[in-house]
Amino acid sequence: MADTLRFDGQVAIVTGAGGGLGRAYALLLASRGAKVVVNDLGGKVDGSGADARAADKVVEEIKAAGGEATPNYDSVENGDKIVKTAMDTWGRVDIVINNAGILRDRSFLKMTDQDWDLVYKVHLLGTYRVSKAAWPIMRQQKYGRIVNVSSASGLYGNEGQGNYAAMKMGIAGLSATLAKEGVRYDVKVNTIAPIAGSRMTASVMPPDLVEALKPEYVAPVVAFLAHASVPESGGIFELGAGWVSRLRWQRSRGGFFQLASFSPEAVRDKFEEISDFDGHPTSYPTSNNDAFGEIMSNLEGQEAPP
Ligand code: NAD
Repeated sequence: MADTLRFDGQVAIVTGAGGGLGRAYALLLASRGAKVVVNDLGGKVDGSGADARAADKVVEEIKAAGGEATPNYDSVENGDKIVKTAMDTWGRVDIVINNAGILRDRSFLKMTDQDWDLVYKVHLLGTYRVSKAAWPIMRQQKYGRIVNVSSASGLYGNEGQGNYAAMKMGIAGLSATLAKEGVRYDVKVNTIAPIAGSRMTASVMPPDLVEALKPEYVAPVVAFLAHASVPESGGIFELGAGWVSRLRWQRSRGGFFQLASFSPEAVRDKFEEISDFDGHPTSYPTSNNDAFGEIMSNLEGQEAPP
């Protein structure tokens, strides 16, 4: 088909591609012509251990289907080595899918520094390190697509996942900023919050749901976000089982106060108005400056209190 989305001549890095969602992304991109660095440390869900077979297996699958792939076994903490594998093998990097992940769920009371640090290292630091190494290459060639992986747990919060949620929200913040910094260089950065059955979700989902929510029902979105034709940068998409939605911030109109009588009691008395999303027009901010109009309008005509 003439309008089939292809990746011929492009090089993609998919982190954590030895299983689960990452494997599905790598297989789909490779089936459409991308040369893929299949990165995976091959550890357990909690981040312990390492095994080169995870990445090797997916590389073999891709090759068996007629595609091109090479393995990389480094932790995403060593993002520069992963990017080096792409550069040494094929001399370019067009696509980065920051997918590698672990879980160390604990209530905040029981969470150890190690639980926090390991989840930080794989998710937020790993996303930073791989992106940081690929960024100058993408900027230089004036082209790049990065898909970062957040989670509903991060965007909304989830009991027992304080470490994971913090990093996944951090990833969303990094993505929003990189999207702005990449605009002039055709480097587009989008974020997904997927749901799929995998070994990661096997501990919280019944087996039939793990089986039903296939990673393949998420992968087409990642491929589109990684494609040259994607119109968007800075988006957050929540998806699973073939359902795809987009998220944005909504801001209430807000409460406007007389500065001379601005007090905790005044805030209490207007708290409903501050939090009202239905009775007044709301807005959908996309930058720091979006609040400036309201801020300045409240100042206008008001004397600074003594
Ligand atoms: P998974 O455990 O099947 O896959 C994660 C992969 O990352 C594994 O193959 C693992 O070996 C690899 N990995 C772990 N640490 C690594 C490191 N330091 N360096 C390189 N590779 C490493 O889990 P999954 O469900 O496929 O998750 C993929 C991503 O999607 C994760 O970022 C996860 O947080 C996110 N996510 C998944 C779901 C879901 O429903 N499955 C929901 C929200 C977010």
